[in-house]
Amino acid sequence: MSAASEVVVRAPAKINVHLGVGPVRADGFHALHTVYVAVSLYDTVTARPGKGLSLTVSGEGAGGRGAGLVPADRTNLVWRAAELLAAHAGVRADADLHVAKEIPVAAGLAGGSADAAATLVALDALWGTRAGREDLLHLAAQLGSDVPFGLVGGTALGTGRGEQVSPVLAGGRWHWVLGIAGEGLSTPRVYAELDRLRAAGQVPDVAEPGSADAVLTALRRGSADELGAVLSNDLQAAALSLRPDLRRAVRAAREAGARAALVSGSGPTVAALADDGRGAVRLAAELAGAGVFRTVRAVTGPVPGARPAS
Ligand code: ATP
Repeated sequence: MSAASEVVVRAPAKINVHLGVGPVRADGFHALHTVYVAVSLYDTVTARPGKGLSLTVSGEGAGGRGAGLVPADRTNLVWRAAELLAAHAGVRADADLHVAKEIPVAAGLAGGSADAAATLVALDALWGTRAGREDLLHLAAQLGSDVPFGLVGGTALGTGRGEQVSPVLAGGRWHWVLGIAGEGLSTPRVYAELDRLRAAGQVPDVAEPGSADAVLTALRRGSADELGAVLSNDLQAAALSLRPDLRRAVRAAREAGARAALVSGSGPTVAALADDGRGAVRLAAELAGAGVFRTVRAVTGPVPGARPAS
């Protein structure tokens, strides 16, 4: 077994700069064409030798169960990731795990998925299981659609239900301001609302997920101007339908000088694109004073996926 006495891994939040949602598949998931960008807002998982599994959580959402809270039991994705890797590698699931959360919970930023990806990397090192990259990606996909991206990071195209990730060429470094709302949104609820809106003809129904080509081209060229013009998220209408107050939040971001603003993933976080780093600082200050968000964070991306913290 490994000699490691402590492994610390941090993993980034993601935003979706394109989220094309297709019809519901036979397995109940929606077919997606999405483009993920990993951004510089991180959760950190620390793994130490232990007897059996134990888990503690600090930071965003720590303190129990319920909406917006992170459970510190076997329902936590961290715990599930540990059990899955142990079963795969044929080792005992022995570890004391701690998650320090900076990524807001149920925010459309895939914080739980980041934690699961970080756990796979941390325990692979702690236990010396030497799972290959393909194995880790396969385990990640069993834990959730966004977990493989948590391993890969950077900028990537997600197909299938989002779990099939391939890195894409991105020309620049992007500056975003994340506007984080006070209360989270459940991802399944947002997808169900999109289905309802489509069935009622309130938003167009589609035969397949919308193509990501325009976003991929803008990313390759590295132009914030072009990227701002083509950002899109099919879940935005559903998130706005469930949380009409978000309309004001998206408008506030645009009025504060964002090149473009959209709901991140299933929301309710609003991702506002700035022209550059200084623009992001200005935008963050403006939005912090606008009174529509619980908190705002200026971030950059792309950043790498789950990696040992240096
Ligand atoms: P999704 O990845 O589905 O888009 P999200 O980013 O909006 O989700 P998360 O922060 O990942 O939201 O959490 C969604 C729910 O998952 C939470 O309400 C929480 O109960 C549960 N959960 C399980 N493990 C974790 C974890 N390690 N961190 C955060 N939430 C977790």
